[in-house]
Amino acid sequence: MMTFHQHLLRALVEARAVAVLTGAGVSAESGVATFRDPNGLWAKFRPEELASMDGFLKNPALVWEWYQARREVIERVTPNPGHYALAAMQAWYAERGGALTLITQNVDRLHHRAGSTDVLELHGNIVENYCSRCTRPHDYRYSDNPDVKEPPRCSYCGGMIRPAVVWFGEMLPVNILAAAHHAAEHCDVFLSIGTSAEVYPAAGLPLEAKQHGALLVEINPHPTVLTRYADEVIAAPSGEALPQLFEQMRLLSSAASI
Ligand SMILES: [Zn+2]
Repeated sequence: MMTFHQHLLRALVEARAVAVLTGAGVSAESGVATFRDPNGLWAKFRPEELASMDGFLKNPALVWEWYQARREVIERVTPNPGHYALAAMQAWYAERGGALTLITQNVDRLHHRAGSTDVLELHGNIVENYCSRCTRPHDYRYSDNPDVKEPPRCSYCGGMIRPAVVWFGEMLPVNILAAAHHAAEHCDVFLSIGTSAEVYPAAGLPLEAKQHGALLVEINPHPTVLTRYADEVIAAPSGEALPQLFEQMRLLSSAASI
């Protein structure tokens, strides 16, 4: 049983607005490699060759195959207890008239599968697809037909279909980023979970929250650049820490209401 500071539990119970940022560590606990398996088939390629528009135009089949391989992994894995705890916490705050805004750098949609709603996907997701020429959504789903070896063609313009992720050199979706900044600036508690807090602009959100008066909490088994700014550090995997944190929040909350 982990122990948490009483003032952290109290802050979480009393919070009306909570913002959460999750990063690669949360997915890694489910078995999704951070960017790619360093020993695997894809190690010989540079990230830009596999995850940029230039790379896609140079070798569409290769890039498509890489995403199909990642989709295969994501189909196989399941959300971990950390994903489920965040979904349960979001429902718990909603029942009490508060809100938990979940912001993620992950593209695997494991938060959705665990039941979280209104997830702000800063980097898009690899489940959906759209046309690289006219940007219309395309309804190809890996699970319906995993054996598609090359990018499908857009039924409107004939352009190549690409995964709905944000590639190197591309801007983050403006409305999603604005909503994330808003959540960071208006929350009582900000949880930074399983992210190295080094990739901007996502990395700026925790400090932005703190500057606006939020309690900043980091959950990560390893120290990061954010650790020394955090008001509370829980040095544990999110799959262990979050279910226990939520359980103790609920205990404190029910004790307080007696
Ligand atoms: Zn098109």
